[in-house]
Amino acid sequence: MAGKLLIIGFGPGSYEHITKRAREAIQESEVIIGYNTYVDLIAGLLSDQQIVRTGMTEEVSRAQEAVRQAKLGKKVAVISSGDAGVYGMAGLVYEVLMEQGWKREGGVEVEVVPGISSVHSTGSLLGAPIMHDSCTISLSDHLTPWELIAKRVEAAGMADFVIALYNPRSGRRTRQIVETQKILLKYRSPLTPVGIVKSAYRDRQHIVVTTLEDMLNHDIGMLTTIIIGNSATKLYEGLMITPRGYQRKYTLGAETQPLKPHQRLKSEAEPWALEQLEEEQFTESHDAYDEENEFIDEEDEEAAGIEEPVLLKSSPSPSTRNSLELAMEALQLVSQGTGSNTAVEFNTHLTATQSIFEFAVSPGIANKKLSAVQLIAIGEIVGERGDIEYSPHHQLIVRVQTDNPQQITTELSALGLLLSPIGDVAQIKACDFCNLEKGDSIPYAEAIHNRIGHLEVPKELKIGFNGCGMACYGAVQQDIGIVYRKEKFDLFLGGKTVGRNAHAAQPVAEGIDPEELVELVTRIVERYQKEGHPNERFHKFFKRVKEIEGYRHQEAVGFVIENALCGD
Ligand code: SAH
Repeated sequence: MAGKLLIIGFGPGSYEHITKRAREAIQESEVIIGYNTYVDLIAGLLSDQQIVRTGMTEEVSRAQEAVRQAKLGKKVAVISSGDAGVYGMAGLVYEVLMEQGWKREGGVEVEVVPGISSVHSTGSLLGAPIMHDSCTISLSDHLTPWELIAKRVEAAGMADFVIALYNPRSGRRTRQIVETQKILLKYRSPLTPVGIVKSAYRDRQHIVVTTLEDMLNHDIGMLTTIIIGNSATKLYEGLMITPRGYQRKYTLGAETQPLKPHQRLKSEAEPWALEQLEEEQFTESHDAYDEENEFIDEEDEEAAGIEEPVLLKSSPSPSTRNSLELAMEALQLVSQGTGSNTAVEFNTHLTATQSIFEFAVSPGIANKKLSAVQLIAIGEIVGERGDIEYSPHHQLIVRVQTDNPQQITTELSALGLLLSPIGDVAQIKACDFCNLEKGDSIPYAEAIHNRIGHLEVPKELKIGFNGCGMACYGAVQQDIGIVYRKEKFDLFLGGKTVGRNAHAAQPVAEGIDPEELVELVTRIVERYQKEGHPNERFHKFFKRVKEIEGYRHQEAVGFVIENALCGD
């Protein structure tokens, strides 16, 4: 009689989480081979099988014994916790077979029965921390050189993977987790959410949700899996939630998804997708021009990077709903009859209660001077755990963990500081009005700020505002430029502020009456807000719609760059 090897993953350790096939496979086996604790965990499923128990480090002899018995014609189950193919017995059994020249045809039959691996069982207990690209790393250096493990931690940290750490620590291996934390802190905020789950779905299950900087202050052992969030992972109600896409973490103002369902279905909604990049890069000649003689847009290359807000992705056809829609529907079903929140409110909560509060702060629209008192107040709010980043837009970007963003905004506003959300919002960048001496037009800058500053738009929008014709703060380089001259305003539209092919905005009007300015700019921004495609920069929008408020778009004159000779 031909024997058979059944390599079975029995999941985290509770009977409910063993698959049907795994149960059957255990029951139909004549011999069960496994590590002592594992045999105990499945004891309730056993009948009269022969049991071969081994110690922890005897994997190789376990695999050899399994192959030997199967060759004798027995049905042999080799059991692993979780999935047998994840740091389990599957590979080892195949290695022993390979060593013996095993062939699929004519050799003992092998079946690998999948199980729920710890990354998924612990993930389920922590909320939804995996969600996006993730990896598993075992910190055990018994079979793998530490240098290689450290390199993998480094790579995963750098690439913003959600990371599941297996075998994080044992009685003898205590330094690995310390080194791992140190490496990850180079790439991730100390406040990155971390979940520590011990004995998932077993009697002594213990769950801790903490942060990267604090994780070592908790019990970590051989039965623990640690999940480290990526830069977008949030804490909510003690759970870790990683968004499907990378969304900005700001909480000021923004409440709803800027993308409407019908917009999500358009290819323009995914400018970061490879196909779209390829279209721009490869359909035209090799000298990096597209058909309108414009360079490849470096912003679009940037858009492929993880910093960009990736809005909820579209499904390929209108008949298939995307994950957000399905989730919303599920929430609605759950809340029916309970009279609880609607799905839309839930979405709002998710944005409103993030623990990392990220905002921009400046001394004002025109004022460029920070006082010592203001700096001290910012410093105290940030403390040792938050961070302050100096931005190219006359602002400090502040990130701080708090449950009470309102308190921070109140405190800083009381000191005369101007707080703004960051991300895809309209923002005024004004000059210093020659140290406020040429201040006649400041009220208009402030009025525009009050009217449309903070407005959510398809892509970040900078409105440059300069108080004289020198325009020394570069208003005419911005998406929208406004220059005060002879008590009237000049207007510029569609500057390309970044990229190698950056260009100034197109002068569209001179001598606009101050009384008309605010309304005019508001209408322009509102049209962009309404009709711009997600992630479409203002200059591209202007080019696409060809006309805004009667101002016609004109092509910027492009330089021709000769390709450098290369190859020899
Ligand atoms: N094949 C297993 C992994 C074996 S390596 C799987 O797919 O899950 C052993 C490691 O798995 C442990 O150090 C721990 O990190 C993790 N692990 C196994 N069972 C676990 C459980 N019930 N709860 C938490 N972590 C567990």
